[in-house]
Amino acid sequence: MNIQTDVSLQSLHTLRLKSQARALCTVSGSAELREALAWARAEGLPPAVLGEGSNVVLPEYWEALVILQRTNGIDVLAQDENSVCLRVGAGENWHAFIAWALGQGYFGLENLALIPGTVGAAPIQNIGAYGVEVAPFIESVHGIVTADAAPVTLSTTDCQFAYRNSVFKGALRDEVIITAVDLHLSKQPGAQTAYPSLQAHLQSAGIDHATPLQVFNAVMDIRRSKLPDPAEQPNAGSFFKNPVLDMAAANALRERFPGVPCYAQSDGSVKVAAAWLIDQCGWRGHRVRGVGVHSEHALVLVNDGGDSAQELLQLASTIAADVAAKFDIDLAIEPRVYP
Ligand code: FAD
Ligand code: NAP
Repeated sequence: MNIQTDVSLQSLHTLRLKSQARALCTVSGSAELREALAWARAEGLPPAVLGEGSNVVLPEYWEALVILQRTNGIDVLAQDENSVCLRVGAGENWHAFIAWALGQGYFGLENLALIPGTVGAAPIQNIGAYGVEVAPFIESVHGIVTADAAPVTLSTTDCQFAYRNSVFKGALRDEVIITAVDLHLSKQPGAQTAYPSLQAHLQSAGIDHATPLQVFNAVMDIRRSKLPDPAEQPNAGSFFKNPVLDMAAANALRERFPGVPCYAQSDGSVKVAAAWLIDQCGWRGHRVRGVGVHSEHALVLVNDGGDSAQELLQLASTIAADVAAKFDIDLAIEPRVYP
């Protein structure tokens, strides 16, 4: 295993901030991962795992052993005529995996096309888009406990999946390095097309009963037309989560701001579109010292030449303060911010 010291992480995360790690290694299996953890323990360094770096804000200097999780491989664990259960290595690219699954006739994840990152990171925030979340497809998550390198398997109940959240962002944060995810996919070609912009896109293309492939292509079209490509304009996707309010707070908000986009959740709470709140505060398209708010998408902060996380986090806290002052709502940052 090759451990490099004092390495730049600028090209290893999509915000492309200047960031230097004390040590870095790439692991492609559990044995290497255990070796890396032993090395970190011997050096007194905390281990920190990175997938493709599309949901992180990295510090200028990171006193850690950064482990790039690149454990690959897809195995069929079980199947019948209706469904298949796959074990997918944590280092597999998420979008490439969905495209492969579609080619095999394994359906369900098409709405999550083009989400950047690895399969191992998908459970961390229960990735979701266009009306679908990954949680219902997950059977279990396999990993290694950071403290003692013991193998662990978590059921979906253990994972405590919620809206852009899981136990890996809470009680097990930094405690488990995911090595593989078991996913249950359908062999029956259904399609989830209720999400408004997806439905509108399919309708405008004259598609009444979409196939999974048509959904996959439509989601890619919409995303490419709307979201900045991190390779061209560094960003970490949505910088804030959509706030979820109880019904009374949502009603009070709607009374004061009748245009606010609100979405009722199955548990009776109400999700509010954070992009609208930010837009109403006049931030869309605004630039400050090399960082700014994307002109098409107020939830996405972009790095157009800012050096460090400081400018970006300063901008985020000014935006959050404006939203709190106008709407009395606290925005939470979605990507993991490392100190
Ligand atoms: P990283 O950014 O490398 O890591 C994120 C966090 O997960 C870190 O804390 C890291 O330590 C932890 N982690 C990563 N891998 C592991 C592992 N194997 N074991 C333990 N911990 C691990 N998200 C959505 O939900 N929906 C979207 O539609 C969406 N669109 C996006 C669009 C763009 C343009 C961008 C840049 C991001 C978007 N995201 C979206 C966010 C991001 O793509 C997802 O959160 C993705 O799952 C992150 O994967 P990653 O491999 O890049 O994780
Ligand atoms: P959008 O379609 O402009 O909608 C704005 C927000 O309203 C979204 O965040 C979405 O919540 C919510 N919404 C819209 N219609 C809804 C409905 N029928 N039911 C419930 N909620 C609804 O969103 P967008 O920003 O262009 O993104 C499209 C999809 O891709 C969204 O699902 C979004 O989450 C996802 N995305 C995520 C990231 C990220 O980094 N996390 C980045 C880009 C896109 P939801 O977010 O809950 O869907």
